[in-house]
Amino acid sequence: MHKLPKLTSRHVDRRNYPPGVAYMDGQYLPIQEAKLSILDYGFLHSDATYDVVHVWKGAFFRLGDHLDRFFRGMTELHMSIPYDKAEVADILHNCVALSGFKNAYVEFICTRGTSPNFSRDPRDAENRFVAFVIPFGSVANKEQMERGLHIAVTDVLRIPPSSVDPTVKNYHWLDMVKALYAAYELGADTAVLLDANGNVSEGPGFNIFAVKDGVVSTPDLGVLLGITRQTIFDLCAEMGIECHAQDIAVEDLKSADEVFVTSTAGGVMPVSQMDRQPIGGAREVGLLTKRMMALYWQIHEDDKYRNAISYPGSAE
Ligand SMILES: *Cc1c(COP(=O)(O)O)cnc(C)c1O
Repeated sequence: MHKLPKLTSRHVDRRNYPPGVAYMDGQYLPIQEAKLSILDYGFLHSDATYDVVHVWKGAFFRLGDHLDRFFRGMTELHMSIPYDKAEVADILHNCVALSGFKNAYVEFICTRGTSPNFSRDPRDAENRFVAFVIPFGSVANKEQMERGLHIAVTDVLRIPPSSVDPTVKNYHWLDMVKALYAAYELGADTAVLLDANGNVSEGPGFNIFAVKDGVVSTPDLGVLLGITRQTIFDLCAEMGIECHAQDIAVEDLKSADEVFVTSTAGGVMPVSQMDRQPIGGAREVGLLTKRMMALYWQIHEDDKYRNAISYPGSAE
C-alpha cells in the first residue's frame, strides 16, 4: 500500500503573504487565513469584478468614487451582494483599522461565487464579497519613479470592449500578462497595449497620458475610467491646463513631450523611455509630469477627497 500523504489543514506558506487583514463570510481574518473555494467561478472563469482604493496618511482617497465604480460593475455583470455602499465602506474601514496601516492598498472583490452542484448557469451562483488590506504598493518601484518607467508598445491587443467591458474593472488579464512578457523581452519595465484600430489603450493596471505643447491627453475609449485618471482631469481643470480624452495614435505617443501613467497603486508615474527612445528627446522626467506627481499627493490633504480611519487606541 502506498503511504498516504499527511493531511494538513491548510497550505500556508507565510513567506507568500505580506502582512494584512481580509474580510470574508462576515469575519475579519489575518490575510493568510482567507481562502476561497476552488469551485468559485471568480477563480475558474475570472468571473469577478473588483476595485482598489488606497489609504494615504490614515485616510481613504476618493473612496466614494471607488464604491460607485464597484457597484456599477456588479450591476453590469448581474451580480449582487448583501451590503450597500455604506456597509462596504464600513467593512473596508474596519479592515484598515485592524491592520493599523497608515498607507495601504485596499482591494474589494465580488466573484460570481459557487453554484449548487457546479451548475454552469451563472444565475444559480451565489455571489461572494471579499476584501483585503495590504501595505501600499506601486506599479513603479523607487528607481523607476526617479528615472521614469521604460515602456514598450507591444503587438498584443487589448481584449476588445465588445467582448469584455474595460470600464468594469476585471481580472481578464491574460492580454496584459502576455504584453508584460513581450515588454520584458524588449528590455522594458512594462507594456502599452493597443486597440484594434492601432490606437493606444492602457497598460497592466494603469492609464496612459501624453503631453504635447502643454496639452494633456489620454485615450477616451476602450479603457478603464481610472479614478487617478479622473484626478488628473480635476487637477488640470484647477490649474487651467488643457486636458482631453481622445484617440491617441502610437505616433502621437512617440512624439509626445512627456508621457506618464496613472494608477491607484502608485499615483502618477513618469515614463522616460518608449521602445528604447527617450521621450521628448530628454532623459529626465518632464516638468508637467513632476508637477502632476506633486499635486496628486497634495490633493490627498483636501477634505473633499478624504475619509479618515479611526484606528483602535487613537484619539481620532
Ligand atoms: C485599475 C486599473 C487602472 C487604473 O485605475 P485607477 O482607478 O486609477 O486605479 C487602469 N487600467 C486598468 C486595466 C485597471 O485595472
